[in-house]
Amino acid sequence: MKKLDNLLLNCSSCNLKAIFDLIDSIECDWGEHVVIQCTNCEELFSIDHKCPAFSSIMELIKFNKDLMTKQEILDYGSLSHPC
Ligand SMILES: [Zn+2]
Ligand SMILES: [Zn+2]
Repeated sequence: MKKLDNLLLNCSSCNLKAIFDLIDSIECDWGEHVVIQCTNCEELFSIDHKCPAFSSIMELIKFNKDLMTKQEILDYGSLSHPC
């Protein structure tokens, strides 16, 4: 994956181009995540694996096609929480 800090991305939540900050540890009910946050709308997107507590990076991928490789996308989906 590209280095996901201070990246200018098309945000799928606010529909603007915005800088995303990396937050390398944030807790959910099931564990911890690495997330990126839109500095405009403050939406959080988990980037290590899928989590119901945060938006999925899959939403961002739709607007930022080269963010992850196919393999990274498969890995991301396979590690989601049981819920
Ligand atoms: Zn946003
Ligand atoms: Zn989680």
